[in-house]
This record gives sequence, structure tokens and C-alpha cells, in this order.
Amino acid sequence: MSAIKYIPEPFRIKAVEPLKMLTRAEREEKIKEAHYNLFNLRAEDVYIDLLTDSGTAAMSQAQWAGVMTGDESYAGAKSYFRLMDACKDIFGFGYVQPTHQGRAAEKVLMPLVLKKGQLAISNMFFDTTRAHVEMAGARTIDCVVEEAKDPAKRAPFKGNMDVELMEKTIKEHGAEKFGLVVMTITNNAAGGQPVSMKNLREVSQLCRKYGIPMCIDAARYAENAYFIKRDEEGYQNTSIKDIVREMFSYADLFTMSSKKDAVVNMGGLVGVKDAGSPLVLGLKANGISYEGFVTYGGLAGRDMEALAIGLYEGIDENYLRYRIGQAEYLAAKLDEAGIAYQSPVGGHGVFVDAAALFPKIPYTEFPAQVLSVELYKEAGIRTCEIGSYMLGNDPDTGKQLKSDFEFTRLALPRRVYTQAHLDIIADALVSIKERAGQMEHGYRVTWEPPILRHFQAHLEPIK
Ligand SMILES: *Cc1c(COP(=O)(O)O)cnc(C)c1O
Repeated sequence: MSAIKYIPEPFRIKAVEPLKMLTRAEREEKIKEAHYNLFNLRAEDVYIDLLTDSGTAAMSQAQWAGVMTGDESYAGAKSYFRLMDACKDIFGFGYVQPTHQGRAAEKVLMPLVLKKGQLAISNMFFDTTRAHVEMAGARTIDCVVEEAKDPAKRAPFKGNMDVELMEKTIKEHGAEKFGLVVMTITNNAAGGQPVSMKNLREVSQLCRKYGIPMCIDAARYAENAYFIKRDEEGYQNTSIKDIVREMFSYADLFTMSSKKDAVVNMGGLVGVKDAGSPLVLGLKANGISYEGFVTYGGLAGRDMEALAIGLYEGIDENYLRYRIGQAEYLAAKLDEAGIAYQSPVGGHGVFVDAAALFPKIPYTEFPAQVLSVELYKEAGIRTCEIGSYMLGNDPDTGKQLKSDFEFTRLALPRRVYTQAHLDIIADALVSIKERAGQMEHGYRVTWEPPILRHFQAHLEPIK
């Protein structure tokens, strides 16, 4: 009997979705047909889908009821105002605009704050955020704390910005070169690692000192708030909602993918603290051109209704304890088996250290992609590579970049999988570990698009 504790679900199940189970031979055929890119698989050929926690949540009965009452008016829908009331209440921002997802929020904002030749600093940029900064003509610099780069080092708030490095970087290039500072909370690329309130405060002070606007990339703001409550001194008796309000008080701007902590299947938000800012006019203009009128931004009225409800469900402390508890449960199983991951475990999943698991496979052959393919073959589990394969090539030289990490991300959809599913995942990893030491070769790219290649590229095994 294992002593690992599982936090029971604070809900019961009302609707179910049947799953198909293929044989190992069928899975080997499917992944070959998909050019060893898991994004090319049909979802019905996957048993446990941990590709992403984005847009994969199970909505609640209240949200489904909201779908029925959604107002589909083109302009000024009731559902829009309900969403705006929730945003004002939770984030305290002066102006918020819906978009169809997070990258759309980035698309409407980035060209307004960044110009060609400028720079943007982040604790770590998420891939689409980095892409939109680059498409605006600017370049990105990551200044995450050093301990984030050591998956074995257990430290709280490994998602933090290295504020000394940030200031040094600003002085080196000159403050006028910088158009934006982005705080990604939690820090997705570093393994869903949280950012402390102290760090947000310090980064915001530096931004003020050098006159650079600060933007929160807020996809997992609620999980971040839960970590602050659990681990940061002085917040144990503060409500999640008050913690969220303080986090957002330090920023001038935010972009959000609502497909994560806001527990909906589609949606995004972009916000400006100061409703009188000239940026508001620009956001409206870009929003109307790219997304739709400002009171729906690419969303149906029913999506906005479900989002307004999901924003509150996502900051419920009992839900967050169960949610983070799932990641902790899976991580504890890996501890038992001696499988390394970004530790302590972060918010939205377990980021397995594939470089440690496959010491003989070089970064140029994508060890974390190897683990992703093996997990699919082993048990029909779909995961996502977050390493050199995702990072891609230098936009200026075209050379393969070396990522700080070679992670295989086991992202946990919200309110979807049970304890038994988590046990199957742990068992699959254990059986792969038994043969991992002998594996020496990975994959080569046979075709790739110029940007965000991991979604589409074709791979083949190196013999
Ligand atoms: C998912 C995500 C985005 C992009 O949002 P989409 O809804 O997928 O377009 C941006 N930043 C972070 C940190 C994310 O996790």
C-alpha cells in the first residue's frame, strides 16, 4: 500500500465521455503515420490526453447552465457585461476586452507596446508570447532565477524573475530599448513554477524606476495565488481573491488565456489598468480588426457567460487544493520510482526531466520528444515536449537552439481525470524508465514551418 495521499474531488460526475483503447501495435502505427508529432494524432486514438491543460477542462453544471442563458447579441450583450463585472471584481483593472484566446490577446497588444528593434524581458516567455513579441519586430530576453534551471533543486517560487539580472540587463542595453516586461504566472516554460508576491512587487518597482510597462501573462494566475497562500510568509490567512487582487495591482497590463485557470474551453482577455490610457483606443482598433467587436472579441455570448462563471470557480480554494493535489500525487509516485522532474511540482502538471531519463540522447535529438512518443506507445498517453524541439531555431541564424530544459510535460486537464488514471500514468513512466538507459538515439526533423514548428513539424527516428 502506498502512503501517498490523494486529495478527493470536491465534486461528483454528472456526464461522462467514453474512451477508446488501442493495442500497442495500433498505437505504433498511428504515431508513425503522425510523423512522430503528437499534435498530428487523432484525439480518439489517445487514451489519456495530457497534451495540454488548455481548453480541456470539464465545465461545471453552473457553466453549462450559463451556456443556455448566454446572450448572442452582436453588441452590448448581457453576457459581456457579466464578464466585465467579474473581471473588475477579480482583477481590479480599468479596461478589459475579450479575445478568442490568449495568443489573440498577445496579437492585439504587442504591436501597440513594442516597436522594431526593441527588447522585452520576462521571467520566461511562453512560446506564443515570444512569437508575438518577435512578430512585432522586437526580441526577447528571459531572466528567470538560476534555480529554475536545475530541476532537481527543490526551492519555492522557482518561477521568479532574477531581479538583479533584470536590472543589469536593462542597464546594459539602456532602458529606452525596452518596451515591455512580462511576468508569466505561473511560469509555464519553467514547469508551472510559481512567482512570489515579493518578486512581483520588486519587478514592478524596477519597471517604475526605468519607465517600462509591466504586463502579467496571467493564464495560471489562480494556481499562482494558491502557491502564494500555501508557501509565502504572511499570506496564509489571506483569501485567494485578495491575493489575486494584490498580484494584479503591480501590473499595468495583462493578457490571459482563459483556457487554463478560468476553466473554459475557449477564450482570452486583455486588460489595461488605467482606463484613460491611449492604449485602450489601440486595443479596441486591433480587437475590432482581428477579433470582432469589442463586446465579444471572437467569443460567442455563451462563451463569455461560461467564462464569467469560470473565473470564480477557478479561484475557489477547495478546488485549487484538489487541483494542485493531483500534480502532487503524481509527483510523489515519481519520487518513489526515482524519476526526475521539475521539483517541487508546479501547478498544472508534472514536467519530467527527460534529459536525466535519457542521458545518452543529445538535445539535438530531442530526448523529451522521445519520452512523449514512448508514453504514447506504452499506454496511449499523449504529452507535450517542452525543450529544444519546441524552442526551435534562432530567428536570425536559423541554428537549432539549446533549451535550458528537456521536459516532457504531463499537463493535467482540470476536473477530467481520476486517481486511477494518474496511477496508469505513473506505471507507464516506471516501465519506460526500466529501458531508458539503453536508448541512445532520438529524432530528426524532416520538415518544419518557419515559426512555432513543434505544432506541425515532421520527425523520423534516427537509427
Ligand atoms: C496558453 C498560454 C498562452 C497562449 O494562450 P492560448 O489561449 O493558447 O492562445 C500564453 N501564455 C501562457 C503562459 C500560456 O500558458
